[in-house]
Amino acid sequence: MSEYIKSLLEEVVAKNPSEPEFHQAVEEVAETIGVVFERHPEYRKARVLERLVEPERVIMFRVPWLDDQGEIQVNRGFRIEMNSAIGPYKGGLRFHPSVNLGILKFLAFEQVFKNSLTTLPMGGGKGGSDFDPKGKSDNEVMRFCQSFMTELQRHIGPNTDIPAGDIGVGGREIGFLFGQYKKIRNEFTGILTGKGLNWGGSLIRPEATGYGAVYFAAEMLNTRGKTLEGKTCIVSGSGNVAQYTVEKINDLGGKAVTLSDSSGYIYDPAGIDADKLAFVMDLKNIRRGRIKEYAEKYDGVTFTAIDSGLDYNPLWNHRADCAFPSATQNEINGKDAQNLINNGVYVVSEGANMPTSIDGINIYLQEKILYGPGKAANAGGVAVSGLEMSQNSMRLPWSREEVDRRLQEIMKNIHTTCVETAERFDAAGNYVVGANIGGFLKVANSMLDQGVV
Ligand code: NDP
Repeated sequence: MSEYIKSLLEEVVAKNPSEPEFHQAVEEVAETIGVVFERHPEYRKARVLERLVEPERVIMFRVPWLDDQGEIQVNRGFRIEMNSAIGPYKGGLRFHPSVNLGILKFLAFEQVFKNSLTTLPMGGGKGGSDFDPKGKSDNEVMRFCQSFMTELQRHIGPNTDIPAGDIGVGGREIGFLFGQYKKIRNEFTGILTGKGLNWGGSLIRPEATGYGAVYFAAEMLNTRGKTLEGKTCIVSGSGNVAQYTVEKINDLGGKAVTLSDSSGYIYDPAGIDADKLAFVMDLKNIRRGRIKEYAEKYDGVTFTAIDSGLDYNPLWNHRADCAFPSATQNEINGKDAQNLINNGVYVVSEGANMPTSIDGINIYLQEKILYGPGKAANAGGVAVSGLEMSQNSMRLPWSREEVDRRLQEIMKNIHTTCVETAERFDAAGNYVVGANIGGFLKVANSMLDQGVV
């Protein structure tokens, strides 16, 4: 690592104390793009990286709401408007008790590079709240969303900042948020993506992140003359991304054998087929239950509860070919990454954002497995959000086939960008280098064009 990058990282840590996830995200990118600064001193002179790590704007606000008992609850809301060099801010909202400024800054930072890779004109942003939708009634979720949007609506707009879903924010929450925006502003615009099909949503948006992560894995396998047919796959999470990852694995002839939630994971050696997946979708999206119920319903399935005393997660310790981490950040540490390799896994396609620690990534790279980092592999979600924005602007919906065709084409293009960029910077086969530099160049060049703003 060059002295320049080292001192920049030290400054990021000093200026953003207590934000380890943000430090990690910046370190992972800065380490790999050092070579760009050696070849192109103009970026350093223009202090592009120093500007990239500083959000253009951070909005933090109080979200008071009434629970079903009539008691007042208070949460904290955030929107990080990270970078608008190539388009309006775009990125999801996360509702989870773990949400804090540092986590949202890491997500917004990643989003800038990811959105650039999609080839669509979208800047990077992220937002959310420490509100926990789990265990809340629909009415409580609605009152929270209305209070959250009462403040957020001042800061967003169809040409300014267009939020979407993320952990804890699905169709139900987007509906409540959209309704409140429309009521306050008296305008029906594409202010959020992930909307319902009857009111401006795009076909394939719910499926897009999971489908995209599997398409990306298929592209990586193709470089070795292989397909997903007959491959055993470990999937984590059981929310939006995990569900459609399993659906697409099944479509392409693979077999998914695990799913998880924050209580533990299930292992089903027979595979999670379409019927079982329908059960999971009902369990998680309608009944909002726990994944443990899957093991109670189907024979031959084991449930393993989370054991915080372990320094590894047994979920990643099963014989398989591919892994699709689709729950949350840092769910795979160095030991887990080694367990994956020892069990025969040679494809990791990240549906979640930053699910692998830097130690773990180094193991994948050392072992030269096919490793698709989240920025590239899970960009299908925001890409179809971009397509939803296009359809909203045209006021014309595309068919399912049309959106899916565009999604596949975008994932293929992202894959090509990663491969070609990695080769150009002497790191053939390294998708981390390819994604980080590929995403960086377009944003950096746009920042140079637009002057010091
Ligand atoms: P959901 O809320 O639909 O599902 C999240 C899943 O992950 C749930 O099964 C949840 O379990 C589990 N989970 C969440 N936090 C933790 C935790 N701290 N420990 C263990 N398990 C956890 O979210 P999504 O499927 O939308 O998001 C999953 C990942 O994909 C996130 O990293 C998100 O940033 C990323 N992503 C999502 C996109 C999208 O379009 N939705 C786009 C690109 C990336 P439980 O129910 O118990 O909380």
